[in-house]
Amino acid sequence: MSHGRMHELGLATRIHRTCRRGLAPGARLERVRVAVGELAAVEPALLRFAWSAVVADGDDAAAVLEIDWRRALQRCAGCGAVAARDGMDWARACARCGGTLAIEGGCDLDVLGFDYLAAGAEEAG
Ligand SMILES: [Zn+2]
Repeated sequence: MSHGRMHELGLATRIHRTCRRGLAPGARLERVRVAVGELAAVEPALLRFAWSAVVADGDDAAAVLEIDWRRALQRCAGCGAVAARDGMDWARACARCGGTLAIEGGCDLDVLGFDYLAAGAEEAG
């Protein structure tokens, strides 16, 4: 079952609605920047694909989705050392002092900003 794809499709739709909310009819999105954490259960390739499907045939068909990929980190409660995951594996203990590690970040799922052309504006060329 491809639940993942449906998830990304819904997410792309929400991102698009969020960006369109403040735009006048006829304005065209050029670029949308989103933060996606590695723990947010979003597959970047699927999100890009879903985005293309959502904006296809509309004013925003040329809008590019830029994904700012955010890694989850592990912070040591003892010495404060911060490390990214080694591949897909979580460290069991701090490599420096053996202390307990807490997971930090990686759950991001936000629209960071977007660029658009106002209604009636034409790009040169
Ligand atoms: Zn430590």
